[in-house]
Amino acid sequence: MGSRVFSLILLPTLRCNAACDYCFEDKDGSWITLDRLPVLIGKVLDHLVAKGIAELQIHWQGGEVMTLPPSWFSQAHDLIDAAAAARGRTVIHALQTNMIGYSPAWDGVIRAMFDNSVSTSLDYPNHYRHRRGRDPADYDRILQRNVRLARSAGIEVQVIAVANPATLEIGAERFYRYFVEALGVDSFQVNTPFPGGQANAVKRLLPLETEALVRFFIELANVWLERGEADGVRVGPFDELLRYFSGAHAVLPCIWTDDCTNHLVAIDPHGHVAQCDCWVTSYPEHRFGNLFADADLGTLLAGSPARERFRQRPAALLQGDCIACDYLALCHGGCPVRAFTVHGTLFEKDPYCALYRALFAHMNAAAVRRARLRPEHPKTQ
Ligand code: SF4
Ligand code: SF4
Ligand code: SF4
Repeated sequence: MGSRVFSLILLPTLRCNAACDYCFEDKDGSWITLDRLPVLIGKVLDHLVAKGIAELQIHWQGGEVMTLPPSWFSQAHDLIDAAAAARGRTVIHALQTNMIGYSPAWDGVIRAMFDNSVSTSLDYPNHYRHRRGRDPADYDRILQRNVRLARSAGIEVQVIAVANPATLEIGAERFYRYFVEALGVDSFQVNTPFPGGQANAVKRLLPLETEALVRFFIELANVWLERGEADGVRVGPFDELLRYFSGAHAVLPCIWTDDCTNHLVAIDPHGHVAQCDCWVTSYPEHRFGNLFADADLGTLLAGSPARERFRQRPAALLQGDCIACDYLALCHGGCPVRAFTVHGTLFEKDPYCALYRALFAHMNAAAVRRARLRPEHPKTQ
């Protein structure tokens, strides 16, 4: 059996207790029942057996996962463990939650199923994440309280922050201090927004203006380079880019993989299969198939014209300016959903190309500087 890992983004529910302005999900209120879950997981595990893959990583996302009760997750955990054991596979679980519904009642499940760790989303300043009919300050109050509560219970809380126009205005120093000093978070990642899902006034402002975005990311990289290690703080994507340019093994975000169809797949509560959570509910014409309707996952993936279009993208981008880019082997033209939601086609490079180029050059230079500062190997006499 091979040692490869299969990553599954599983959306067990499309209910959510929030109404964020740049949400791309079609939140139809559905969830998967515990009698249907083993059917779906069984087909995924059978695919691993057929491909000789040892490990399944399930990234649980919504909607909002914590609109299901902790007892649902305990039972799901047992069902999945039994199905994996019967097939000689290992399953690792990761949790992405907005933490609005978090309470200590979740601590047992988070410890047993998620290795006492959660990832949440928190922007600064927050202008677009809110509960229906409430303002963003209400959301921040609940989230900050729950992050502190979870951390006091020993849970590691990682944060994904999406930059917005106000983030670029306040600058990197305040942004960094908010997460590290005000919240005590020691691992966060900054993502770029894209206008996925149904259009609205906020999404029409995207993508963000390049010059300000580049300035912010470079400043944040510098703040992290100067203080991150001393503070014991990890900030993505800078930490992994520094590792990459230092020649170390790096775990880069999916936007910079060779072809994201090689690395993950997403399934929603209806059994729809698509490239990732950015596609599965919002773009039916780009789904790969339905796992409740199709016989098995391997046949579904192999026979999907929608998936084939994703697979053609890396080669198609070589017809454009990516072919002459110094960072092609790292970036591969960037993220398909960012290209699609801005340009209306998969066959364009990522609209944040200029940011990526600037960031790659900056982190490459930082890696070179660090290598020069490293003491020479001691001479042997
Ligand atoms: S972005 Fe996430 S938390 Fe916000 S409304 Fe969408 S699914 Fe809910
Ligand atoms: S479409 Fe973009 S976000 Fe989705 S898996 Fe591919 S690279 Fe990642
Ligand atoms: S940085 Fe830009 S030009 Fe270079 S590979 Fe990425 S998208 Fe293409």
